[in-house]
Amino acid sequence: MLRVDLRELAQGRAVDTPGELKQDDLAVEGTEITLKQPVVVAGRLQSIGEGRFYWQGTARTVVEGECRRCLTPVATPLQLEIGVLFTQEPEALDDPDSYPVAADATEIDVTPAVREELVLAAPRYVVCRDDCKGLCPQCGEDLNAGPCGCSPVTEARWQPLQALKEKFRS
Ligand SMILES: [Zn+2]
Ligand SMILES: [Zn+2]
Repeated sequence: MLRVDLRELAQGRAVDTPGELKQDDLAVEGTEITLKQPVVVAGRLQSIGEGRFYWQGTARTVVEGECRRCLTPVATPLQLEIGVLFTQEPEALDDPDSYPVAADATEIDVTPAVREELVLAAPRYVVCRDDCKGLCPQCGEDLNAGPCGCSPVTEARWQPLQALKEKFRS
């Protein structure tokens, strides 16, 4: 369970938090990230003082994005180590490194922490391989499959200048 009843967290006691986020989890909604697998979560939540709880966990999954050059789908395995402070202290609201918990809360849900870490860790730009040649900007063909027959763009752009130079020279 990714939710822990605060009564189980008597001083110093640790509670295991095994769980899973579904493949269509809303963490990736509105992002370019696609989950190829559910997110497998493990970890322990522990009370570390009055109204303060520390969760140490792991999350692993495989995300998919498009190669930025040739648009082929690229799968990237992710293995995250997460350490998060949940706190009921009002002054912690301004602390970006901790998650506020309502003073009258009866449980802690570690799901938001997993979602945030996941989105932060997912690669924004992937390439299918380092030497991916990408798509031809003119005809859109995948240049990894071989040359497409278009003349290179740079050459076409410089031709008029070259012609101009020759005109002045003669
Ligand atoms: Zn590529
Ligand atoms: Zn082409």
